[in-house]
Amino acid sequence: MKLVWFLNNLRASDNEALVRACEGRAPVCGLYCFDPLFFSDDRYGFPRTGTFRARFLLQSLHDLSRQLEALNIPLLIAHGDSAKFIPQLVAEHNISEIFLQREWTRDERQLIKRVGASPALQHVPLKPSYDQFLIHPDDLPFADIRDLPEVFTHFRKAVEKALPIRTPLPTPKPRPRDNLTSIRGNAQIPSLEELGLRPPIPDPRTAFPFSGGSSTGHERIQNYFWRSKNITRYKQTRNGLVGTEYSSKLSPWLANGSLSAREIYRELKDFERDVVANEDTYWLQFELLWRDYFKYISMKHGDRLFALGGIRNRQYEWDLDKEKLTAWIEGRTRYDFVNANMRELAATGWMSNRGRQNVASYWARELQQDWRAGAAWFESQLVDYDVHSNYGNWMYNSGVGNDPRDRRFDIERQATVYDPGRRYRELWLGDGT
Ligand SMILES: Cc1cc2nc3c(=O)[nH]c(=O)nc-3n(C[C@H](O)[C@H](O)[C@H](O)COP(=O)(O)OP(=O)(O)OC[C@H]3O[C@@H](n4cnc5c(N)ncnc54)[C@H](O)[C@@H]3O)c2cc1C
Repeated sequence: MKLVWFLNNLRASDNEALVRACEGRAPVCGLYCFDPLFFSDDRYGFPRTGTFRARFLLQSLHDLSRQLEALNIPLLIAHGDSAKFIPQLVAEHNISEIFLQREWTRDERQLIKRVGASPALQHVPLKPSYDQFLIHPDDLPFADIRDLPEVFTHFRKAVEKALPIRTPLPTPKPRPRDNLTSIRGNAQIPSLEELGLRPPIPDPRTAFPFSGGSSTGHERIQNYFWRSKNITRYKQTRNGLVGTEYSSKLSPWLANGSLSAREIYRELKDFERDVVANEDTYWLQFELLWRDYFKYISMKHGDRLFALGGIRNRQYEWDLDKEKLTAWIEGRTRYDFVNANMRELAATGWMSNRGRQNVASYWARELQQDWRAGAAWFESQLVDYDVHSNYGNWMYNSGVGNDPRDRRFDIERQATVYDPGRRYRELWLGDGT
């Protein structure tokens, strides 16, 4: 039997690990493991996976389990140390190969290494494949990852010359019914309470009212691209702050892999062919390249992604004041614009890109507080947390990353430009405090 160990690739379509596992006639089984590594508290005392992302994850797993069921592939759900569970499973079910998405960031890399080091896996190869990119690493126009430019524009111009984007892989055909695995998929996807989390209180103000899973992801594409055609206004609206339509809101699906970047790109190209191609539609592609860029930056710089001096090894006077951290988290700072954004994040797990840049700049550049504490709070809260985008953007906004201009935001000015009528601040602060 072959095993697909699902990580942040929770989809049946355009999934190389699944496609490779389905070659031949051997039975295939899927696995998702709630590993304590990602479901414990971090060094600041924040749950690494907070309730908003956990809820989105559970919804994504329910959807994945249904998709796999249609392919006659059971999805096992495990709780506990992957490095204990997977070797047991291998031994009990005569698993011959394990397919998974290739990961390289610190925790993910160590986890996969620990699993692979088990004696039970001595003759059972782990077969990883890159599946999280828009542009596959083998198709980059750089001979070596060390040649990756430190400036996004240089990267973008180099890749845009050819834009070697692969066609999404089709969903595998259903497995033959006469050759099913002995494992029955257990529907034991836990509840939030079972994960030790309190379900979020519904907030009608949320800009992200969507639930998880590939199906809802594809629905969002249908709505944002084809029905409302809001994609044709994207570049003009993308700095918005209120509501579902100012940006695509695709990041949570991309983050846990229930949508692939290639699938979104293909829809975008279809839309441009059939409806319109303008600067706004191009801008979505531009932003997806930012997403790839931060992945490549993390690949190039390895664990420096989590170092205080960042990838530039910059020495600043950093502090970490608990009271300031609490005030920032609770939205009790001197800026109402920061406060509104931080309250939105705490209430919904969402914050706009404009908001993220401002609250990060305030925390790291103005207060000169350890940027990693801010990044950890985002990791805990964001429904779309993604290790590369989060730490890459945090470094960028903290002066230790890839910002060639080393910007620090004038927050009063930003509030005036982006929330001129105070609509956003009033939404989240009510009384305007
Ligand atoms: C401090 C900080 C932390 C961030 N943390 C995360 C994170 O954990 N996860 C995450 O997905 N994004 C993160 N971002 C990037 C960006 O804010 C979000 O991707 C975006 O707001 C998601 O909304 P959207 O899907 O509507 O984006 P859209 O504006 O519709 O963009 C489309 C897609 O392009 C990609 N994209 C857009 N902007 C960026 C960017 N600056 N960097 C990387 N990819 C981008 C995303 O995949 C996004 O879904 C962070 C930005 C900052 C400033």
